[in-house]
Amino acid sequence: MAIHYGFIGLGAMGYPMALNIRRKASPESTLYIYDVHSPFCEKFVAENSSYGPIKVVSSAREVADMADIIISIIPAASHVKTVYLDAKNGIIAAKSNQKRLMLECSTIDAQTARDVGNAILDASSGIYIDTPVSGGVPGALAGTLSFMIGSQEPSAGFDIHPQLEATMSLMGTPSKFFYCGKLGAGLAAKISNNYLSGTILLASAEAMAIGIKSGIDKHLLYKVIHNSTGQSFMCDHVNPVPGVVAHAPASRDYEGGFKAQMMVKDMTLGVDAAAAVGIKPSTGQAALELYKEAAVDSRCIDRDVSVVYRFLNGPE
Ligand code: NAD
Repeated sequence: MAIHYGFIGLGAMGYPMALNIRRKASPESTLYIYDVHSPFCEKFVAENSSYGPIKVVSSAREVADMADIIISIIPAASHVKTVYLDAKNGIIAAKSNQKRLMLECSTIDAQTARDVGNAILDASSGIYIDTPVSGGVPGALAGTLSFMIGSQEPSAGFDIHPQLEATMSLMGTPSKFFYCGKLGAGLAAKISNNYLSGTILLASAEAMAIGIKSGIDKHLLYKVIHNSTGQSFMCDHVNPVPGVVAHAPASRDYEGGFKAQMMVKDMTLGVDAAAAVGIKPSTGQAALELYKEAAVDSRCIDRDVSVVYRFLNGPE
């Protein structure tokens, strides 16, 4: 029997993730899609219907009524609560189905994931797991995302749900599926990672600006860093200086990618997580203050957060 999928949130990450599901799933499976911004759904149908049936629905509840497996990736905790728990239009309002599998991929706080997952379980609405992803828009397009998984019963793969690994494999690389523990644990890992990558990105922007303003050619400076102790994923793939790394958002005027406003959310999650466990977040706190200023600057709004280099007046 064909498995039917539901996808909620067709933004920068969701669109390519849903596209990979549609392209790789059986043509007998229907993909039900929902986004509050309906033009995204219309565009998705117009561009991808050749791969198999796609139906646009008008609420998360309708997605859950139709789909066996649901993937959601939406901005923040408030959106996740609405999508899952709204008494009228949320997933919780759909017909009960204890086998329904829900992969919630947004980057939100771990406590919200525990609250939402437990409410869903109590309502016999199915199995909710936190599955934040890493790899950004390029990883979503290539279908090579990593998944960090937290579940009610801290088990793995088939023990959580027979279709879990197969579903993540439509969007990601199995060697990068990390079972982190109980509900919320995937997010705990994700928040730590983003605390690190967010601070490294800002440090990279500052370091590149310092070196270039000191008279070092931008290409030479990158080569030096790439071959020295400052080398990092962020400098190699999200290098904030235009024209240094061809595939980085900076080289296409910071279009697409991970929005500056999203970094404020993630760095806040990191700083709050630090406070909750008694770790002083000195670098994260400093980065957060700067990202907050950048996120409301007209040069930065809605651009990839590496635009912080422009905010710092780095030479372009
Ligand atoms: P985005 O703003 O591009 O997309 C979010 C989408 O969700 C939009 O299309 C929006 O209309 C839709 N949406 C908002 N509220 C909704 C609701 N109530 N119901 C249905 N749809 C709703 O954001 P994004 O960059 O795709 O990020 C989404 C999540 O993924 C965030 O939590 C982010 O931190 C995380 N994330 C992003 C990246 C990245 O590189 N962009 C990487 C990993 C994780």
